[in-house]
Amino acid sequence: MDQKATNITWHPGAVTRDDRQRLLRQRGVTLWLTGLSASGKSTIATLVEKRLIDAGHLAYRLDGDNVRHGLNRNLGFSAADRTENIRRIGEVAKLFADAGVICLASFISPYRADRDAVRALHAPSDFVEVYVKASVEAAERRDPKGLYKKARAGEIKNFTGIDDPYEAPERPEVVIETERVTPDEAAALLVEFLRQGGYIGPAEGAAHE
Ligand code: ADP
Repeated sequence: MDQKATNITWHPGAVTRDDRQRLLRQRGVTLWLTGLSASGKSTIATLVEKRLIDAGHLAYRLDGDNVRHGLNRNLGFSAADRTENIRRIGEVAKLFADAGVICLASFISPYRADRDAVRALHAPSDFVEVYVKASVEAAERRDPKGLYKKARAGEIKNFTGIDDPYEAPERPEVVIETERVTPDEAAALLVEFLRQGGYIGPAEGAAHE
């Protein structure tokens, strides 16, 4: 998006990201969960957030519907609005990562270019793309909010997977096959990824040092 304001400068503070990360004993990161509606993004993000907090790590969830109630309430589901939706969320996630927080962003984010733009906002190790994978058939069978039913009946237009495309990630850092692993297994896998990547310390002692 074009920069509208002029005569603005970036103010450095007296506290650095390293200071915050030392305080929190973790590295800030954006875990970006992408996938079809009902693929399991919110379910998994919620479990990961709980596991992290229980282990003494600060995590925060940004979730599709919640953000559309506030920050992005003026946006719909046209291609342009979806792009702007993801751009704004990407900027917010980046701020959380800079704050030292493990930010769990769960958004369908169907367009590859939009996800790549969010990745480009972040330093390489600050962005982890997690493909929460489920076939349209499986997602439609789950249909916890009855959205596929409405989309099939023509009551919702531009529904991802039905009459709007989903562009699967080409090189995601993590793929979760939700037709093969349970939500708990998926959450454990993501927490382990964070440990292996050094975003959080070893399981024992991390919260009690
Ligand atoms: P999304 O956030 O991707 O729209 P939700 O998490 O809201 O998806 O819904 C996913 C639904 O699928 C939930 O009802 C959940 O219980 C169910 N589900 C079944 N298997 C899995 C799995 N392996 N991982 C995540 N969710 C699953």
